[in-house]
Amino acid sequence: MFDLNAIVRANILSLKPYSSARDEFSGEEGVFLDANENPFGSLNRYPDPYQRKLKMKIAETKQVPKENIFIGNGSDEVLDLALRIFCSPGKDKALTFSPTYGIYDVATAVNDIELIKVPLNGDFQIELTQVQPLLKDQNLKLIFICTPNNPTGNIISKAAIESILSTFKGIVLIDEAYIDFSGEESWLKYLPRYPNLIVSQTFSKAWGLAAARVGTAFSSKEIIDLFNKVKPPYNVSGLNQKAAIDALADQEAFEKNKSTILNEMQRVEESLSEIPCVQKIYPSDANFILIQVTDANRIYDQLVQKNIITRNRNNLVRNCIRITIGSPEENSQLLSLLKTL
Ligand code: PMP
Repeated sequence: MFDLNAIVRANILSLKPYSSARDEFSGEEGVFLDANENPFGSLNRYPDPYQRKLKMKIAETKQVPKENIFIGNGSDEVLDLALRIFCSPGKDKALTFSPTYGIYDVATAVNDIELIKVPLNGDFQIELTQVQPLLKDQNLKLIFICTPNNPTGNIISKAAIESILSTFKGIVLIDEAYIDFSGEESWLKYLPRYPNLIVSQTFSKAWGLAAARVGTAFSSKEIIDLFNKVKPPYNVSGLNQKAAIDALADQEAFEKNKSTILNEMQRVEESLSEIPCVQKIYPSDANFILIQVTDANRIYDQLVQKNIITRNRNNLVRNCIRITIGSPEENSQLLSLLKTL
């Protein structure tokens, strides 16, 4: 049985959260003399601390009740808050599967949490035999699973994740930053089945709003309440909330951009397979491709010299470069240069 209270940090369980002016009066009409705001200007009022309008739109789009949604200042805030809610500094541990998104390393280090890194196998999949014995550790509170995984691009096998979700007594946070590009289904529909599941998503990738910093966590109401208790009162600016609401209203633009990116992904993959310095193209369910090249350091540097910036992932996966799918023109520039290297 999953016991939420047993894994929440004691100081968070007993925390009396800050009550903002907008917590104490949430109506929209009135003479507002309660929050020490300036009466002049257009950005003079604090935004809705619970982002109600945006949550309603996300609830509609994702078919998840609004009580099960938390919005962060990017999904990086979601990851950090999860550590601060569930892991006691200097005592508890988190776990992830490497190679993966580098923030798990940094966010755990900032919070003084040990991060166990279990290597993915040759197909970048979870080896259950390696992870199962570690799940019994009483101090292991949080597991990060990135799917589609960054930087490898692949979806992590559903059976492996289900096995972890159903045996682990702590929290499993599935980072779906790239899920909108994938043909595979999201874990959102499993929220009612697994009380220890948090799914994080973001507006930074398929929604094209990286500058706006809007990320989401989906989970049980009890877990979402904990996120609301710990977050800074006005963690998502009014401008950012509006940017996400506007993006959600233009589903057509979302679909059009996404299909351009996915078509380009196919074209780039096909062209890469004919380029001599490219030795391997890893299949991707995201908006980037990991490729193995003859000499990643040299090729990365040569691309930079010509103002084409990719991500050198040589120290994570030997001789690999991660390429984000850009506009058709940008991709063509990359491909014609790569042919010469
Ligand atoms: N998760 C993964 C796997 C990512 O690659 C990124 C961004 N690189 C994030 C989360 C963070 O996204 P956001 O912009 O929402 O903070």
